[in-house]
Amino acid sequence: MKYVLVSGGVVSGLGKGVTASSVGVVLKACGLRVTSIKIDPYLNTDAGTMSPFEHGEVFVLDDGGEVDLDLGNYERFLDVTLTRDNNITTGKIYQSVLEKERRGDYLGKTVQVVPHITNAIKNWIESVAVIPVDGQEGPADVCVIELGGTVGDIESMPFIEALRQLSFSVGQDNFCLIHVSLIPVLGVVGEQKTKPTQHSVRELRALGLTPHLLACRSAQPLLANTKEKLSQFCHVPIANILNIHDVPNIWHIPLLLRNQNAHHSILNQLNLLSIATPPDLH
Ligand code: ADP
Repeated sequence: MKYVLVSGGVVSGLGKGVTASSVGVVLKACGLRVTSIKIDPYLNTDAGTMSPFEHGEVFVLDDGGEVDLDLGNYERFLDVTLTRDNNITTGKIYQSVLEKERRGDYLGKTVQVVPHITNAIKNWIESVAVIPVDGQEGPADVCVIELGGTVGDIESMPFIEALRQLSFSVGQDNFCLIHVSLIPVLGVVGEQKTKPTQHSVRELRALGLTPHLLACRSAQPLLANTKEKLSQFCHVPIANILNIHDVPNIWHIPLLLRNQNAHHSILNQLNLLSIATPPDLH
């Protein structure tokens, strides 16, 4: 199984969900089978009890699972049918670990965030990633994982640590990290500022994860010197710096990615260039 992790930096609501879905569309257009997992680091077990004013409407899956709206994006963009287990929350992870603890499964050990919670996260990801969601037999080729929240949040730390361990155990040919970040423009001069992105990449690297691609949200397309600065300070090749500027309709985003050859960078990282076909998107 190959994993594409989509993380976010600087602020929430940047478009991680839309970016993850669009990455899935582009990979699917290359002939690969794609599944997805959404991680929500909140303590609620699922979105069913959450106010729609805070998180938008609850999306109800075919199996009755009440989940985040992003799962709806995945189903529509990728033409898949997801299950409640494709949405991992802190609440679900703690519930499963506490049930095991009450059953005595840990055999008297002290149950801790590391390794018990992080192992539960890794096991959950690995077992859900292989469940077919596109109506075909056998596991998909690529699992796109979206990590909700912003890098540096206390509540997402166990997930980051579990994903760091996962990236190490699956090996670098099987793991691609796309970090979605914000490039704001300040003042009348209209300069695109890279510092917030530099800080969030530094934070990510301090936690043991290095982004292979940067997906930059900005009002206008990125200027050449903004990309050069980002590349130099964030340790990401210029070809892997993608620009996701504001578009009138989110269905433009897969095309935006395709036009920047995002598939080439992702497939190259995942060592899939030899088996994938050029993306067929209209
Ligand atoms: P996150 O997962 O980071 O919280 P979402 O993917 O839910 O963010 O996107 C937040 C909002 O921004 C959504 O309403 C989405 O339609 C919108 N959005 C995302 N990317 C773009 C873009 N490039 N241009 C315009 N709107 C966008």
